[in-house]
Amino acid sequence: MSAELQDSTLLCDQSLIDGVWCDARSGLAFDVKNPASSEVLAQVPDMGAVDARTAVEAAAAAFKDWRRRSARERMAILRRWHQQIIDNADDLALLLTLEQGKPLAEARAEVLSGANFVDWFAAEAMRVMGDILPPADNSRREWSTRHPIGVVAAITPWNFPSSMVTRKVAPALAAGCTVVLKPAEDTPLSALALAVLAERAGVPAGVFNVVTASHGAEVGGELTSNPQVRKLSFTGSTAVGKLLMAQCAATVKKVSLELGGNAPFLVFEDADLDEAVRGAIAIKFYNTGQTCICANRIMVHERVYDAFLERLARAVGALTLGEGTGDGVTQGPLINPAAFAKVSSLVEDAVSSGATVVTGGGGDAGLGGTFYPLTVLGDVTPAMKVFNTEIFGPVAPVYRFSDEDEAIRLANDTPYGLAAYAYTRDLGRIFRLNEQLEYGMVGVNTSRFVSETVPFGGVKESGIGREGSVYGIDEFLETRYLCLAGL
Ligand code: ADP
Repeated sequence: MSAELQDSTLLCDQSLIDGVWCDARSGLAFDVKNPASSEVLAQVPDMGAVDARTAVEAAAAAFKDWRRRSARERMAILRRWHQQIIDNADDLALLLTLEQGKPLAEARAEVLSGANFVDWFAAEAMRVMGDILPPADNSRREWSTRHPIGVVAAITPWNFPSSMVTRKVAPALAAGCTVVLKPAEDTPLSALALAVLAERAGVPAGVFNVVTASHGAEVGGELTSNPQVRKLSFTGSTAVGKLLMAQCAATVKKVSLELGGNAPFLVFEDADLDEAVRGAIAIKFYNTGQTCICANRIMVHERVYDAFLERLARAVGALTLGEGTGDGVTQGPLINPAAFAKVSSLVEDAVSSGATVVTGGGGDAGLGGTFYPLTVLGDVTPAMKVFNTEIFGPVAPVYRFSDEDEAIRLANDTPYGLAAYAYTRDLGRIFRLNEQLEYGMVGVNTSRFVSETVPFGGVKESGIGREGSVYGIDEFLETRYLCLAGL
């Protein structure tokens, strides 16, 4: 497979600790497989607590120097990293498609949008400022100052193996922190390739460490209990996020958590239906439905329900399922057989409780065990499991509502609060929705609204903290207070 890469050194089979590419202390390794074909792409180190501790020690030692570098120097190094990513975007995209399954064009878009975070936070390094405070009495002078928090543990998921890494590592490095990253076991190759490029860009030894592991728990246990780690930035499931938050309590680490979602997608009776269908396709089937901001509950006003459903099913018919490297493919496989089983059982539950299959449904789409057919379900009700479960698959359940109050009530009837979408042309309603929807992000008449410039994050059990935007670097800084008396 490496022969297909222009630069075969971007396919790594070792982890990076303290500037040294290394195997696990135990000598163990695990397979990284292509989800479309089960082909083994590489074997990477199966690291444990001892390796994670070594990485934390390296990051703690490197922090002493990195935090003292000028902001301009950190910016310059991050800019070089950004350029390395751009220059190697084709190889990074191919690696991403092979280990994750998404179509090549989407993989390339992810690599480039991930690179935008590096560019953005390179500039943010220069904008970390404090305040001069009004003193309590005139014999004092008082300041608030901002400092890098220290060693950061970053744990990332498999659905965006490239951009989830850059949007944690870039702000951490910009702030003057050092990082130990544990990428998802399904997709460590993108993270390792990014680390190669960071090294080439001049990121010093120990500043950015990558520890691969086949199971998160052991490495995660070390990263969350080690007192030298001062911050955890995690993206993944709500269940694991809660566990890690509890584990971080013993050493009172600062945490950022980007967890699950259950996005409502509301289509009101005054919506531009074609736009709404385009928006639903774009966000429901994004990454084959495997994102935390995917539309999870499509709710349509009863007056336009039939028309919307028919147009949605027609639009789904124009999508093409297949291997991500294939021509014209818009939808890849699910990440693994367990994901397929979960999606199948949700559809079976809905259908046995009265949902109708408008298109798609069970089976394996004739392409192998990880390809779930693109599916639209009608007559879905809140009593079905699919209402409060993150589907993470290409299944669009469509619900009916009769008025705005009911739509808002249903939308908020979940412990999650990440992204919500609404299609309407009523300005008053748009303001009511923004005030009443309990979500960190609301898209009105659009469903693709994430970039490095906006604060990404959730409320309720969808998480804590924001990534990207001018607020993103705050997660890696702490505010201190200096008082000078006796003047
Ligand atoms: P998903 O359902 O998207 O796979 P997970 O929350 O299971 O989400 O995984 C997200 C990341 O968390 C991955 O890198 C995974 O290895 C890691 N992870 C899973 N369980 C643990 C754990 N107990 N401790 C630390 N990391 C974990």
